[in-house]
Amino acid sequence: MVRDVMSQKSHHDIACPGCGAELCVELYDSVLVDEEPGLRTDLLTGKLNRVVCDKCGKAFRVDQPLVYHDREQEIFIHYHPLVGGVTMESAVDAFNRAMAELRRLVPAGMRLPETHLVLEWSELAERIFVLEEGLEPRVVEHIKYMMFQQNPEKLDASSKGLLFDAQDSTDEMLCFVVQDRASRKLEAMLHFARKDYEALLNVFGEGQGLKLLMDQFPGPVVNGRLKFLQDRLMEKAEEPEGGREEAKA
Ligand SMILES: [Zn+2]
Repeated sequence: MVRDVMSQKSHHDIACPGCGAELCVELYDSVLVDEEPGLRTDLLTGKLNRVVCDKCGKAFRVDQPLVYHDREQEIFIHYHPLVGGVTMESAVDAFNRAMAELRRLVPAGMRLPETHLVLEWSELAERIFVLEEGLEPRVVEHIKYMMFQQNPEKLDASSKGLLFDAQDSTDEMLCFVVQDRASRKLEAMLHFARKDYEALLNVFGEGQGLKLLMDQFPGPVVNGRLKFLQDRLMEKAEEPEGGREEAKA
């Protein structure tokens, strides 16, 4: 059993993005950070799955699926980047298959901790921080959704991302940084009062409120920006002069 859940590495054939040389590199497919805490640090500092081309010397991180396990804090995240023809649908499919396999392996009736699916590297690091802070990811993503909704001019969801910033957050304030998605530059900081987060947590904690939150983010991808963009597309499609619905039929 212990061997099954160790951090796992395997060899991968990749092409250097600098010179095109074919490289065979050893990469982590899964990390078990309660056993090897150094791997968490490597991940958060961008060193994990980073390789150096022995032909041209270019250093780069290889974007490939990674399973993150922290059993001590019950943090389980699957990172499935949308590269090499992987679509959101195929990433969700792969995730659902992995979860079904996991359910098959555990004794009946045993509770499985929630496993998260993220599609971007920055989202992986962010989700680790959100969960380590004891925050509820769906509420955090709901807050981002509201931020996009309330700042349509300054915060264009198609080009800007929002990331929870654990380092600058305090007991009073949750901090979010605005990131330009093309340049990766951090451009601004937005704050959200922690007491307002607590209030949302109460509203969404149970009954009808919880149902609303689950309807907004049924999962496995829980992402306020993507949900906002999706809803805006739906609104456009529903506009009477839009004509999109006829196009579909
Ligand atoms: Zn190279």
